[in-house]
Amino acid sequence: MRYKRLALALLPVYILCLGGLLLSAVWGSRAVTAITQTAPLTGRRCVIIDAGHGGEDGGATSCTGVLESRLNLEIALKLNDLLHLLGYDTAMVRTTDVSVYTQGTTIAAKKASDLKERVKLVNGTENGLLISIHQNTFSDSRYSGAQVFFSRNTESRALAKALQAALAEYLNPGSQRQPKRATGVYLMEHIDRPGALIECGFLSNPEEEAKLRDPEYQRRLCCVIAATLSNFLDQE
Ligand SMILES: [Zn+2]
Repeated sequence: MRYKRLALALLPVYILCLGGLLLSAVWGSRAVTAITQTAPLTGRRCVIIDAGHGGEDGGATSCTGVLESRLNLEIALKLNDLLHLLGYDTAMVRTTDVSVYTQGTTIAAKKASDLKERVKLVNGTENGLLISIHQNTFSDSRYSGAQVFFSRNTESRALAKALQAALAEYLNPGSQRQPKRATGVYLMEHIDRPGALIECGFLSNPEEEAKLRDPEYQRRLCCVIAATLSNFLDQE
């Protein structure tokens, strides 16, 4: 039954998605908000969209040599546009190909600082809810499908469950993946807000990697995430 409701919820999102694309074509600009430009909040949820990695930290490399950080950003920007169209407050950890570290000279120190800054942004945002975008990779190229992780609270678990079910239903038919607790993931272990980390697919699987590079597939992925999130926030 929940899925019927979700399917109904998805329809206007697809329409809005197309409408948004038309609008951006007319205006020639993107509705992107940097976290520093966030307007004062009034008790509403602010969805913090984290494009994983960035700058000198490219994350994983795909089977055709594309950096995970680039795909994360492309998807995060599309998700931000969609959530704006749906009327949600959003903030982005990064809107360009940068790392957000403030300290450190070695790669390891910069990475540690980068993650601390991301945690600070999430925990410093009143009514924040984190969606972190990443891509998976594995030595065996057979594996595919989105995997959702949650941080340590019941709200995060419920959000991840809804996201995992919707992604299986609309993007990865037949996927048996279940949401997992994000143990050992610094960002997810240190945020005190609800949050889900989405590994959108496997960059080591040639078929899925080609999809993840495709702007149309990225839009479909973002429609599923935005519609599920919208449903989740409405029920809060
Ligand atoms: Zn990653």
